Amino acid sequence: MKKLELHWKILIGMLLGLVFGFLMLQISWGKDFITDWIKPLGTIFVKLLKLIAVPLILASLIKGISDLKDISKFKNIGIRTILTYILTTVIAITIGLLLVNIIAPGDGISEETINKLTETYSNNSSVQAKIAEASRQKDSGPLQFLEDMVPENAFSAMSNNKLMLQVIFFSIFLGLSMLLIGEKRAEPMKNFFDSLNDIVLKMVDLIMLTAPIAVFALLANVVVSSDDPDLLLALVKYAGVVVLGLALLVVFYCVLVATVAKKNPLWFLKEISPAQLLAFSTSSSAATLPVTMERVEEHIGVDKEVSSFVLPVGATINMDGTSLYQAVAAVFIAQALAFDLSFADQLTIVLTALLASIGSAAVPGAGMVMLVIVLESIGFPADKLAIGLALIFAVDRPLDMCRTVINVTGDAAVSMIVAKSVGKLGEPKVKNWDDNYEEV
Ligand code: ASP
Repeated sequence: MKKLELHWKILIGMLLGLVFGFLMLQISWGKDFITDWIKPLGTIFVKLLKLIAVPLILASLIKGISDLKDISKFKNIGIRTILTYILTTVIAITIGLLLVNIIAPGDGISEETINKLTETYSNNSSVQAKIAEASRQKDSGPLQFLEDMVPENAFSAMSNNKLMLQVIFFSIFLGLSMLLIGEKRAEPMKNFFDSLNDIVLKMVDLIMLTAPIAVFALLANVVVSSDDPDLLLALVKYAGVVVLGLALLVVFYCVLVATVAKKNPLWFLKEISPAQLLAFSTSSSAATLPVTMERVEEHIGVDKEVSSFVLPVGATINMDGTSLYQAVAAVFIAQALAFDLSFADQLTIVLTALLASIGSAAVPGAGMVMLVIVLESIGFPADKLAIGLALIFAVDRPLDMCRTVINVTGDAAVSMIVAKSVGKLGEPKVKNWDDNYEEV
């Protein structure tokens, strides 16, 4: 009998997790049971993925760059990547703005609902923490992000998952220097990182064997920690606009894959689906990165020279789903609180949501921190920020799960397009869907 493919196993794990979570909610001790006995299985899985992210970025980026043969190729890939990322993000924000202005989900929301949401969430510690974090980020100077990108100690950068851009900077620096000293002298280091890269990819395979159980645990925990269903329902129109926008973005990526990369979009979606399902379950593109890299390199056929740069950079700075969400959320809050937005304000949203999505960390809930900065840029009163965030907080986790899927899909699509444009999109190494998992 044909073995069940990995994405089906993960999907079944997710569905069972949802059902189990709902059932446990009906029992008085159900929530505690999931928190104490089930959630750790998901947490361990996410920790394992994060554990291998730094060695994987190091090994694959250093190997990818030192293989390039000359620096101009790196410049070429770098410029194409950044420009495509900016383009897809601006398109994402535009889709979001068009939908939220046409459908206007905030206009019909009743005073009573606004009061209920405000009462429930405006003093919530998580909402307050996001506002405080945003003000910390806002106080920094315009070039702070450049300063932050350069590590003063490579080992401390590697020991902190929040410093992914520093690890990327160090890896590019090292890889380029290896390129400059010539192939012969760089050979031992190249072999080392080459071998490390293969080993870490095998670690991804091993970790993925536990994915169906881990997603079961993660989703059961999401269900028992979710908010009052009445409050979720009150925001269904707003959430619908975000989800519709995200779905349109998937269509846009499929068109890009078909027309620019000249590949079947359904094949593309199928091949990266394990990464998408993990993005949904973990709400973190950083935790999903090792799986995205493995899928794109081994199953889609993007050369390491491209994927090793495009994907880690994308996971940290390219967040199309997040930018779309930030645009929709900002306008929704303005509509609900009758805060007038001019055309210039909407243009400001395009610019700040672009910068905000670049600045958002690839971890759960980060998009909402930067949303505060988008709101401030359009002159939203500081004393009403907590009310604004309270309006959307109830549905933020499910929307975070959805936007993270799009963030990951966008990175994978761009890696294919850049690879195609520099002649580095080849045949996948793993043709058969589950080959590399069965080998383990
Ligand atoms: N959770 C998202 C990610 O990791 C970021 C966000 O929108 O909050 O890509």
